[in-house]
Amino acid sequence: MPKVIFAANWKMNKTRQEAEKFIQDFLKIKLKEDREVVICPPYTAIPALHPFLVDTDIKIGAQNMYWEDEGAYTGEISAKMLEDICVKYVIIGHSERRQYFGETDETVNKKVKKALEAGLKPIMCIGESLDEREADQTKGVIQRQLEAGLAGFEDYDNIILAYEPIWAIGTGKVATPEQAQEVHAQIREFVGKDTTIQYGGSVKPDNIVELMAKPDINGALVGGASLDPKDFSGIINY
Ligand code: PEP
Repeated sequence: MPKVIFAANWKMNKTRQEAEKFIQDFLKIKLKEDREVVICPPYTAIPALHPFLVDTDIKIGAQNMYWEDEGAYTGEISAKMLEDICVKYVIIGHSERRQYFGETDETVNKKVKKALEAGLKPIMCIGESLDEREADQTKGVIQRQLEAGLAGFEDYDNIILAYEPIWAIGTGKVATPEQAQEVHAQIREFVGKDTTIQYGGSVKPDNIVELMAKPDINGALVGGASLDPKDFSGIINY
């Protein structure tokens, strides 16, 4: 059975002080225990969050990393550096990174490989654009992203997949549970029965129940709603 995992993607939001306020409020809320919770703040807020989380089951994730260990790569962060600040998960290939920072299936593959070598759990994001969906290309796009992003791995047990239709991210337009399940079933066929497949795209406390009712949805990657302790815990405790 895949582990159910809810991950917060804070994107470029929250100073250290704001992150501390979030976590103080969030830790007052009781979370159901049969699910993993991951918070992915900006790098700068990670050391501020860590002391609050050492005695909890909540894990810290990063939003990106580079595939080399060190060297002349101005502005980049390595897997080793993430481990050094107690990061356990890392989001790879988010559509915003593909769209604004030129990431490709090939760079995603290198990053996933490096994350696994370093003992980090990659959350690999895939998903189609609105144009691709409307041109009936969703299946082909997902297949290409899976084959290229996961090329060279023998099993996918330590990888988390996040299906995030680009047209549903930050737009308030959530995929219907049926649309999501159709793609999740395709991903399931590729990765097998034990891999966690999250849905992402405008997830809120009021739409998570019907998404989680689908057989191949094993949690969510949450952007906007994860910035608020009540909303994020409402999703986790659906
Ligand atoms: C995301 O950025 O991964 C995401 C799903 O964002 P939102 O929940 O805001 O749509």
